[in-house]
Amino acid sequence: MPILNLSLIKEFDTVVLMYHEVLGGKDGKETIRSVDQNIVIPEPLFKDHLDFLKENFFTSWHLCFSGSYSHLWKNLNKPVVVFTFDDGFAGNYQYVFPMLEQYGCKGIFFVIADRISRDHRYMTWGNLKEMSNSGHLIQSHTKSHVPLGELPAPKIYNELFYSKNLLEDKIGKEVLMLSLPFGSYSAIVKDIAYDVGYRYIFSSNLQHAYFGEVIVFGRISIKSHHTVDTIMKLLDRNSFYFKRTKYMHSLKTYIKGVIGLNNYRKIYRFIKKIDLE
Ligand SMILES: [Zn+2]
Repeated sequence: MPILNLSLIKEFDTVVLMYHEVLGGKDGKETIRSVDQNIVIPEPLFKDHLDFLKENFFTSWHLCFSGSYSHLWKNLNKPVVVFTFDDGFAGNYQYVFPMLEQYGCKGIFFVIADRISRDHRYMTWGNLKEMSNSGHLIQSHTKSHVPLGELPAPKIYNELFYSKNLLEDKIGKEVLMLSLPFGSYSAIVKDIAYDVGYRYIFSSNLQHAYFGEVIVFGRISIKSHHTVDTIMKLLDRNSFYFKRTKYMHSLKTYIKGVIGLNNYRKIYRFIKKIDLE
């Protein structure tokens, strides 16, 4: 795995977007059962995002993580955007993969080891292998998608070690990136992740953080109602929308800390009428 050029990341403040599911028209209906509608992006909207991002950004993770591309940095006059997709939903293969290919973009797909090939909602090992062979990254979103910040050390270790090794065995490429389920995080998570062999952690916070050799990338969470206009506001740190999003994130983090993440999720899913998993 090539090395990240840290100074340039700081200079251009690389934007990392966090998507979940993208779905097409009628055939999406069956697939989205018990998936939070708030994180399902309609395919035409995703295409709008790609048109905008392709025009205004460099749209390849290679630029951040590949030493072989470092010479390009000298001539960059645009920031870099990195596409990430969490949870390994089937639409990532059916819709996202062909569209990224069409636009010449490569994405990072964070998959839950226990759910690969599990049912029609999730991608198969065959899907992942094909995407990996096309230059997309398949990386870890843990073994079972539990909030790591609430687990004791041996269980955190198991979640991180098992998923990394399974993906490396089956896909045949190194796994150095970890996405945190629900953004849940504690000081020992970072230490264990480093010991297990991860070097890049992707959070749900809005800003990047640096802990020695581990980089924690902040991400902008893209929701079903986010138009290109919304994304532009989210990219502007002085906009009201960005400040409000940051405030709401802090508020949610506070509430989760007080009532516990699982209680927060139960209430959220009850209100949104989503089946618990
Ligand atoms: Zn997730």
